[in-house]
Amino acid sequence: MEKFSFSNKIELLWDNIEELRKLVEELEYYFKNFPEIFKETMSLATEVKNLILKIDPFIDIYAKKVCSQCINICCLNKNSRYEYDDLIYILALREKFPIPERNLKEKEPCYLLTEKGCKIPRYLRPLRCNWYFCKELLQEMENSPARAFREFSNTFNKMLYLRQQMLNSFFSSLPYTERNV
Ligand code: SF4
Ligand code: SF4
Repeated sequence: MEKFSFSNKIELLWDNIEELRKLVEELEYYFKNFPEIFKETMSLATEVKNLILKIDPFIDIYAKKVCSQCINICCLNKNSRYEYDDLIYILALREKFPIPERNLKEKEPCYLLTEKGCKIPRYLRPLRCNWYFCKELLQEMENSPARAFREFSNTFNKMLYLRQQMLNSFFSSLPYTERNV
């Protein structure tokens, strides 16, 4: 069997859902069968989630205001593509990864978009989606009270830092598992 490796894989292949499904299963195997080895990774993933939950209301206030007026909605598959890092984070949380039902095209509306908006909570969205603030949205956020914006910015940076720690922890723990997929 091919040795499990993330090297030279940067983005998940939306045009090959079967490969994606296989990867999800492989990663689930690790977290399910080696919870002790990945204890730190899973705990860091929970910290990342909690920080996203903390900034969620702040972003929501301004997104509701600006995005509801938007005529060029950015929720397209090309802007919401999950990366391997996202996959590790979501599976370390022991959450269900939202696998698309079919292969996707880049310019189609995001497969997670519904008439009522995004169907998944912010903490499960791809980093590139959570990270993206268009000019109008950013301007609104920057016009918020200075203290609130500072707190948001600090929390966001802390989240990015912990996310990197979580990934480091995952890759340094991986050799301790007996099985290579
Ligand atoms: S983030 Fe900006 S571009 Fe995207 S939907 Fe909101 S207002 Fe529109
Ligand atoms: S994950 Fe949700 S918020 Fe992000 S692009 Fe897709 S529908 Fe929009």
